[in-house]
Amino acid sequence: MKTTADIIIIGAGIHGTSLAFHLAQRGVKPVVLERRFLAAGATGRSSGLVRMHYDLEPESRLAWASYQYFRNWKETVGGDCGFTRTGFLQLVRTEYEDHLKANVAMHQRIGIPSLLVSSEDVRRLAPAFRTEDFNLAAYEPESGYADPNSSTAAFMQAAREHGAELIQDCQVTGILKSNSKVNGVETSKRGISSPIVIDAAGPWAADVGRMAGLDLPIDTWRHDTIFVRRPAEIGPSHPSVIDDINAMYFRPETGGLTLVGLEDGNLIGESPEGDTDHAKPGFVERAVDRICLRIPSMERASLHSAYGGYDGITPDQRAILGQAGPEGFYLVCGFSGTGFKIGPAVGACMSELILEGKATTVDISPFSLDRFTEGKLLKGEHGYDSIWR
Ligand SMILES: Cc1cc2nc3c(=O)[nH]c(=O)nc-3n(C[C@H](O)[C@H](O)[C@H](O)COP(=O)(O)OP(=O)(O)OC[C@H]3O[C@@H](n4cnc5c(N)ncnc54)[C@H](O)[C@@H]3O)c2cc1C
Repeated sequence: MKTTADIIIIGAGIHGTSLAFHLAQRGVKPVVLERRFLAAGATGRSSGLVRMHYDLEPESRLAWASYQYFRNWKETVGGDCGFTRTGFLQLVRTEYEDHLKANVAMHQRIGIPSLLVSSEDVRRLAPAFRTEDFNLAAYEPESGYADPNSSTAAFMQAAREHGAELIQDCQVTGILKSNSKVNGVETSKRGISSPIVIDAAGPWAADVGRMAGLDLPIDTWRHDTIFVRRPAEIGPSHPSVIDDINAMYFRPETGGLTLVGLEDGNLIGESPEGDTDHAKPGFVERAVDRICLRIPSMERASLHSAYGGYDGITPDQRAILGQAGPEGFYLVCGFSGTGFKIGPAVGACMSELILEGKATTVDISPFSLDRFTEGKLLKGEHGYDSIWR
């Protein structure tokens, strides 16, 4: 095991490995330290939705820049990310129709293939869906979902081929500093010195921040999901959907399955060491009731599996990106339950920021930690309420 590194990345989720890939591509040799194993945190439990529909332009830009990787993974990264195009529908309550129109216009302006469709169109796209409770929806024909475990493994594999190193079963226990600069980490194995340390620790990011002397506004967010086996009458697939009317999202999965997650009832502030192999009591019943509201024939679905996961969440439910605290310490965290799909572009942007002083792929300056002390919390101009309620 090395005792020095160009850059230390704490956490081997989608963000730690994407950053390792982008740094290694640029000739830097980062060391990724992971307390357990690749994708052991939020990433390994992620639902993997890949869509560009956000109400905040910088997030849509990050998602769109990331989409270029998901669609061309073999050429840009190598290996497989399991991207499956399903089409994506954003459903909102009728009082938010003007917001939907404004957001689709913003997406179109930045080049995202997105259009407004009527409830009639939705019925043609997805005959099993109930469509009486909305007039308009946003549709992204190119969107879908990817496999978070495969994506993370592919990033790390490509990073290693360019000289990065992954050390698993290695918990960072302290951050070494002198004269307001970081100069390495202490770990459960041994110390490693480095002038640059990255906090990409997902739901544990606040703990790592404390080691650097920062009090990060990041809490933990618990999120459960179920997979149900669709009745045959629904057909071989259906679009991926965020259904704000029923506070849920769902997407198809191979093997005739549908994944369902709920926007409400996600617990804040639990220990991220909680049981993720099982959903919380009562969740399965709530999720089944909810999906039946949009797809009534799901009454004949059967339960396949249910589990949970944790992510880090910030007060405005947006990520924290950039330098903070001692010189050489960077934050790539607080992804608030929506960070998988922007992983590729965030890694590109952070590598630009660290190596060149400025992100050029997308301007990530709005995501700085300072926004919380300056009272500049991020809010979409045309929001539909917080994602998580
Ligand atoms: C159930 C669920 C569903 C989701 N669905 C979606 C979705 O559909 N689309 C989407 O875009 N996003 C989704 N998200 C959010 C997305 O998965 C996360 O935002 C993203 O995966 C966060 O990645 P990360 O690399 O920041 O964190 P993580 O994947 O949590 O990685 C952090 C890593 O750091 C390690 N670590 C922590 N502390 C230390 C330490 N001291 N030393 C060494 N290693 C340490 C952990 O073991 C972990 O592996 C979902 C999240 C959950 C939980």
